[in-house]
Amino acid sequence: MELFGQMMHIPMLLSSIIQAAARHYGDVEIVSRRVEGDVHRYDYEDCHVRCKQVAQALINRGIGSGDRVGTLAWNGYRHMELYYGVSGIGAVCHTINPRLFPEQIAYIINHGEDRYVFFDATFAALIEQIAPQCPNVEKWVMLCSEDALPRDFPVPLESYEVLIEERAPDFVWPSFDEERAAILCYTSGTTGDPKGVLYSHRSLTLMAYASALPDALCLSTTDTLAPVVPMFHVNAWGMPFSAPLVGAKLVFPGAKLDGESLSTLFAEEGVTMSAGVPTVWLAFVEHLARTGKRCSTLQRVIVGGAACPPSLAASFKNFGIRSVHGWGMTETSPLGTVCTPSRGCSKKTPQERLLTESKQGRAVPGIELKTVGPDGAELPRDGRTSGELLVRGHWVLERYFGASASALSGGWFATGDVATIDENGFLHITDRSKDVIKSGGEWISSIALENIAISHPEIEAVACIGRAHLKWDERPILIAVLKEGSALSVEDVLEFFAGKVAKWWLPDDVKFVKSLPLTPTGKINKLALRQQFGHVEEQTIAQTCNPSGARQVTN
Ligand code: ADP
Repeated sequence: MELFGQMMHIPMLLSSIIQAAARHYGDVEIVSRRVEGDVHRYDYEDCHVRCKQVAQALINRGIGSGDRVGTLAWNGYRHMELYYGVSGIGAVCHTINPRLFPEQIAYIINHGEDRYVFFDATFAALIEQIAPQCPNVEKWVMLCSEDALPRDFPVPLESYEVLIEERAPDFVWPSFDEERAAILCYTSGTTGDPKGVLYSHRSLTLMAYASALPDALCLSTTDTLAPVVPMFHVNAWGMPFSAPLVGAKLVFPGAKLDGESLSTLFAEEGVTMSAGVPTVWLAFVEHLARTGKRCSTLQRVIVGGAACPPSLAASFKNFGIRSVHGWGMTETSPLGTVCTPSRGCSKKTPQERLLTESKQGRAVPGIELKTVGPDGAELPRDGRTSGELLVRGHWVLERYFGASASALSGGWFATGDVATIDENGFLHITDRSKDVIKSGGEWISSIALENIAISHPEIEAVACIGRAHLKWDERPILIAVLKEGSALSVEDVLEFFAGKVAKWWLPDDVKFVKSLPLTPTGKINKLALRQQFGHVEEQTIAQTCNPSGARQVTN
């Protein structure tokens, strides 16, 4: 006979996180750099009061269980209030990425069937453009006070401050099933239409607990956290939940994410920890190097969303900042792995330690990983054999929003990443399967070549893509942005690879550009680069016909 535990069952609801923060860390600050240009400050107690006002206002207007409420907003206190106020009544906070194409934004508002959409003033022109395509949105609410509402706007608007004006002193958060949906976020849709991932109260609460662990993000009330990763994509890596869970001070940077704006904010607010994608951090360390500025309180930064080049980690180290590599995806809420030292790592040589630190790390408790070969069989955890990465866990998607079929195969989600896992469980992403360069039947890791190129002191940004080749199928080429004043030639860049990779991995060419295209999530857009630079070059065709003129490739 099955014997069940006899413990209380209290549903894990996000509202309990903000309620507890107000009780235990009531005077801990939340600081927001606003789109209005000023800095707003209040504390967890104030935040909780306003979350309840949002909740009450929505209930009064007939928003209820399961209804979707869209947000198009930067990281800030009002966005945080919507996270809790909307989800706390059993409705769904649908965070929308404003960097998507307007047609995609309209598509996901319609696909998500959003009844209300809240937006920052900076997106007013965007709303004007997409509103006619979203006839089912009942109310567009601008995150501002009444006097800041634009006049003669073609769509009826309401002010957020007026909407939530009424106090809700008697409001009590409702209790409901923890499996109910809380937040909806769409993937970037770089290939095909964006797909919705519907997070539950349970999945987000569990991720918040796990992320706070010492060997995960190691969060505490003594921390001051500045999420640079946007709240409009994958829950800002769960920080709007994990920060109040532990009572950490929160600093929201708003719309300005350049090196100058971030370093000033970090210094003014005593930020101890932040999180963002490599493109943001490359600009940040470049700014520190150029200006001599320092962020003395900043102890660690989480780098994820794309591979963290070892040279970036080294730059951080020079400034006394520890970079912590993490991996995840929209479908994993996103926290999957974090690279923190393993027991006994002090016995490793500095070289071995560097190698481990460059990996994406171990699965946080609650997440399981494995790699499989083309036949689906599990591959050895030897740190060498690479295959497709599969994931499962408490905060991993089961099916996309609105899909009738599960997204899993045999209970696992296929990530589309190519990776190795070592004896100690450290994950190393060698590529995305669509980015890996297939040359003469062998695979070349675009990430490995990018890591070398970006360590060149005169290269500011770089991407490696496969260019179609008549003989080898694909050959690696680099697309590089040089630092100001640099006169590097193609030969100089290629020379820099000498002795660092096998000969057949050497890029065939380097194209210099002024800037690299970015995806809506701030990563380098390799699809766009492949469209521009990935075709067989006429010169290559000529060379292939006349092998004597071809660059020697030993495959
Ligand atoms: P999108 O950018 O399309 O919205 P996600 O934000 O969900 O997608 O990105 C997930 C993908 O980003 C992963 O599958 C992986 O390819 C890449 N990624 C995330 N973190 C890392 C990392 N630390 N190293 C390498 N790749 C990473």
